[in-house]
Amino acid sequence: QRLSELNESLDRRVTERTRDLEASEARLLEASRRKDEFLATLAHELRNPLAPVRNAVELLKRQQPDPAKVQWAADLIDRQVRSFSHLIDDLMDVSRINQGRIELRREIVALNDVLSDAIETVRPMVQECQQDLAVLLPDHTLVVDGDRTRLAQVFTNLLNNASKYTDSGGRIELAVTLERDGVVVTIRDNGIGIPPDRLESVFEMFSQVETAISRSRGGLGIGLSLTQRLVQMHGGIVRAYSDGVGQGSKFQVVLPLARAGDGTRPAEPEAG
Ligand code: ADP
Repeated sequence: QRLSELNESLDRRVTERTRDLEASEARLLEASRRKDEFLATLAHELRNPLAPVRNAVELLKRQQPDPAKVQWAADLIDRQVRSFSHLIDDLMDVSRINQGRIELRREIVALNDVLSDAIETVRPMVQECQQDLAVLLPDHTLVVDGDRTRLAQVFTNLLNNASKYTDSGGRIELAVTLERDGVVVTIRDNGIGIPPDRLESVFEMFSQVETAISRSRGGLGIGLSLTQRLVQMHGGIVRAYSDGVGQGSKFQVVLPLARAGDGTRPAEPEAG
């Protein structure tokens, strides 16, 4: 009797252990598949811009090229170099964040200043796509305790995506409201939207919604994951909303308001 009980319990433990091992093997396989996919995407993202850059260089090497064409070539190279630097910065951030090596340089920052920085960064892209960018900032200063550069990175990423995943002529809105749980920054677009079952996984590292439209817009699938980690490091949360494909998207960041006594009084009308 005793022996058979012991046997059963041993059997159960072996079955459980096997199940655990199978599950972790499946997770490892999935991680490895995503990494392979990521490498392919990375190679693609690095290779694609090279053909136009090569054309531009050829043009510049010609004798006495047309000044207008020289300008065009210089602008193109400038744009591609910026986009490469951006990509490399993101990649470096991913490895830093995975090793817990990103530190915030916290100070009391006016949210309006951070948002203005982000808006200025994306403005050329928005203009090029002839999109309408509506900004609704409160007329009093809301302050948060955070890293100005990292917060600007968060909002630049979200605005950048709003423009990238919205067709030319579309509309992007940025609004700031003060709510019970903190300052809420809402970035809404009327672009390609997100399927309901992907609203959470878009924040996972290397995850991209696999539709023909969204893949054709490039990217590495790391921006939102960095965004989420940075927001969390600030004690905030970021969420995605969409009524589905073709219905636009909305991203909301909630950040705790800096407390009175942090050096600035929050939510007070600006002097003057
Ligand atoms: P990337 O844009 O480089 O692919 P992100 O991490 O910034 O990576 O975004 C992950 C995925 O989430 C994107 O590939 C896209 O499918 C989806 N996504 C992000 N922002 C939006 C948006 N505003 N509208 C529609 N889809 C979006």
